[in-house]
Amino acid sequence: RIMQLIKRAAGYYHHPLGEAFATALPKLLRQGKSLLHSDQTFWQTTQTGQTFDLKNLSRAPRQLNCLELLKNNQKGLSAAQLNEQLPGWRQAITALKKKGLVESCQRLHTETKILQQPQPAPTLNQEQQIAVEKLSQNLDGFSTTLLQGITGSGKTEVYLHVIKQLLEQEKQVLVLVPEISLTPQLRQRFEQRLGIQVASLHSGLNDSERLYAWRLASSGEAKVLIGTRSAVFVPLKNPGLILVDEEHDTSLKQQEGFRYHARDLAVLRGQLENIPVLLGSATPSLETLAKAQKNDYQHLHLTQRAGNATPPRYTLIDLRRQQLTAGLSTPLVHRMRDVLEKNQQVLLFINRRGFASAMLCHDCGHIFDCPRCDAHTTFHAASNKLRCHHCGHVSASPVACPECDSKTLITTGVGTEQIEKSVREIFPDENIIRIDRDTMRKKNALSTALNNVAAGKYSIIIGTQLLAKGHDFPDITLVGMIDVDQGLYSVDFRAPERLGQQILQVGGRAGRGTKNGEVIIQTHQPDHHLLQTLLNENFTGFSNTQLKERKLAQLPPHSYLALIRSAAIKPEDAQKFLQQASGIFHQHAKENTQIMGPVPAPMEKRAGRYRHQLLIQSSNRPELHHLLNQVLPLLNALKTNRKTRWSVDVDPVELS
Ligand code: ADP
Ligand code: ZN
Ligand code: ZN
Repeated sequence: RIMQLIKRAAGYYHHPLGEAFATALPKLLRQGKSLLHSDQTFWQTTQTGQTFDLKNLSRAPRQLNCLELLKNNQKGLSAAQLNEQLPGWRQAITALKKKGLVESCQRLHTETKILQQPQPAPTLNQEQQIAVEKLSQNLDGFSTTLLQGITGSGKTEVYLHVIKQLLEQEKQVLVLVPEISLTPQLRQRFEQRLGIQVASLHSGLNDSERLYAWRLASSGEAKVLIGTRSAVFVPLKNPGLILVDEEHDTSLKQQEGFRYHARDLAVLRGQLENIPVLLGSATPSLETLAKAQKNDYQHLHLTQRAGNATPPRYTLIDLRRQQLTAGLSTPLVHRMRDVLEKNQQVLLFINRRGFASAMLCHDCGHIFDCPRCDAHTTFHAASNKLRCHHCGHVSASPVACPECDSKTLITTGVGTEQIEKSVREIFPDENIIRIDRDTMRKKNALSTALNNVAAGKYSIIIGTQLLAKGHDFPDITLVGMIDVDQGLYSVDFRAPERLGQQILQVGGRAGRGTKNGEVIIQTHQPDHHLLQTLLNENFTGFSNTQLKERKLAQLPPHSYLALIRSAAIKPEDAQKFLQQASGIFHQHAKENTQIMGPVPAPMEKRAGRYRHQLLIQSSNRPELHHLLNQVLPLLNALKTNRKTRWSVDVDPVELS
């Protein structure tokens, strides 16, 4: 079935089958290691062997020793163990096997451990109970359910109850999560509550660990497997449920090579294996919401925070009339002081790492750009370097302007480093931690940091989107969002949806314990309709407005997209190929399909290559795929095809 899944996926995403297999399967498996490799062969006595009188073997001392050894090790011994204890055992075992006294079996080394008594569950509230009941009625075959519950509403509790029922039926559950950083916390919680070992699969594993996790899952030993997007391909012996947590998260979609969406493949897999699929989120994607509204998916709601927690209060701070200290307004600093006096925690969120987003010459206005991209370089004070966040280019921080030789260089745009610096100056006695990709480079750094935050070691936490997701920090009562304006100006049609999700997800970190939470959003656009709908009408109102706008513009989920990207050293090579491609698409396309472009990508030059794109939009999904099937082979035959690197992205989540 996994092979079938990969084949279907390769067809859907119009990706070469071989490469799709290469992405989906662990490397060692592709190199011919079987899922039950010989080092996992165990030898044990048969029933006859167990009662066999050893005296009968007195003339074959090796066989005698071997049988005796196995009699004393009822669970069997592996080849490695036999090598150690009885050199030359192979011949003896072959002889014993012929006599029917021993047998080999294939199994995995570990046994599923009962870790501890499962911890008791809290009493579910009424909404949770209804959700569990509705889900329980549909565990026997394929169906898709969206569990939409505000942050802290107890979705994870609902998952745990459903998983428990499946475990009682000896079924396995596959849990997909967007981020590797989420797995240790979630896994811990699952293990504590279910009382079993939970296997995990993420990009931090090496090849043999990865193969091992596959073995545990495909042998049926791992009852619950938590993994990031590639785990959607892991075979299960007794599949019972696929759960996709934070289904709206774009990291579930692979953004290069085989561009699959793990959530969409989870639904396809649920169909193939005839098992239920559960999608959970506080801020579902518009695609999923549209399916729920059409009743393709069952739609369950959790509208209250669980336990005694209440939703956070949102306040906008109009930055236009404010004095700023490195991006922080005075009202925000005042609120921080209040909260810190009560020994509660503050989270400051800004989605830009580094010190400043650009460096420029005060005298002539020259901006230091990346030589390889159409982008400003970010100033990193700690290393005194200019870095490009798009291609990784690094250069020493300049001392003078290359245009006018002026030494007055200034920075603009605040990043996490600068926030940290000024917060340390304003609050010298507080314990402060910055959590971004620069400070969390080392393995396990992030999970250590998250545990320390949860344990209350820090009172001020400054971070990027690494902090936005899923984490449960009961003592954070104030969340400050330093700058949300970027999201209001983006050209990507998905930017509003993203911003809404981000505000509610980050804000949702506030007040998850027993204390009330508050979210302060700093903006230059307090009247922006997007912010106003979001704060006055919650996510449902917001997403309905967004869905209407998408319908008017005939954008997904009201239409289907495929993006052809082309990148070349010479801009005309990237463009020429797409121009020819566009011509061929036009020849084959029906009326309900629009071919848009080619146009330069929003960031035309990136990592030294010029990028152009062609967008195919259709109101009919099968027709879009039919068109791609007709046209793509023709593109491979084009001569211009060789001068550019091009790719197809079906259901792109980013148009850049
Ligand atoms: P979500 O996954 O929706 O963000 P969680 O399942 O993590 O929410 O629940 C948030 C917090 O509320 C957790 O600390 C959890 O233990 C607690 N909780 C969940 N359900 C209940 C309940 N019915 N009664 C009391 N506490 C609950
Ligand atoms: Zn200058
Ligand atoms: Zn660059």
